[in-house]
Amino acid sequence: MQSLFRCPLCAAPLEREENRWLCPNRHSFDKAAAGYVHLLPANKKHSKNPGDDKAMVAARAAFLDKGYYTPLRDALCQAVTEYVVNLSNPVLVDSGCGEGYYTARLFRALTEAGHSPRIAGIDLSRAALRRAAKRVPEGEFAVASVYHLPIPDQSADVLVNIFSPLATEEFARVLRPGGLFCYAVPSARHLWEMKQVLYREPYENPVKRENYPGFTWIGVKEIRFTADFADRGDIMALFGMTPYVWKTPKEGVRRLEELDRLRCQIGFDLHLYLQSTAYS
Ligand SMILES: [Zn+2]
Repeated sequence: MQSLFRCPLCAAPLEREENRWLCPNRHSFDKAAAGYVHLLPANKKHSKNPGDDKAMVAARAAFLDKGYYTPLRDALCQAVTEYVVNLSNPVLVDSGCGEGYYTARLFRALTEAGHSPRIAGIDLSRAALRRAAKRVPEGEFAVASVYHLPIPDQSADVLVNIFSPLATEEFARVLRPGGLFCYAVPSARHLWEMKQVLYREPYENPVKRENYPGFTWIGVKEIRFTADFADRGDIMALFGMTPYVWKTPKEGVRRLEELDRLRCQIGFDLHLYLQSTAYS
């Protein structure tokens, strides 16, 4: 069957066979045992950044599966479901899909709403894709860079980007005109109580809505709630998912490690954009 992916070497459409993806120019890409395909050309390999490792992926998957971020997941599914209401076979791309937590729920939400969605997930981490391909056996998952998505021009109806690198030029290229781009960013007070533990003088996150060439902003869903982390492992898993893990002084980390419980504000802004120009 026709794949959602294109050949990373010659950009021709790929055919999906049982154990490989194949282009008309005979470039062939084997399916890994875990179900994903490696589409990162050797010259685009980020040797220093193979993506999240196994332990990081396992910690994040365990954290997400406890449901702490369910409100964000549900808001995302609602936005996408509303958008695709008149499309029977919507094509979705999850750019930086990680272990497929959002990908899986999106696929299920659209199926339950009566659609026959097709979904592709891209990530650099094999450890993450192994889980994603298991979560959504109906989807297609590729090791690739989000800056060089292995997706044909104007082929996607929806592209979601949940906490992964932003490549708006690529996103504008792969979305069809009028296609939906969902982009989640932390709110000003996201994780405020955690930052109060980590830093003597915590700062609010800068919040500024950006305009991106090729996109028209159509709205934002504000997701705000308080989460009660009653498990030391969950607190540290949450910390491990943040950028603070790279820049917190040791004594701040120690204060956090001593907590058995943390009640914390969670805030996300889910920005919605439409692809507004034909890519040329
Ligand atoms: Zn090819």
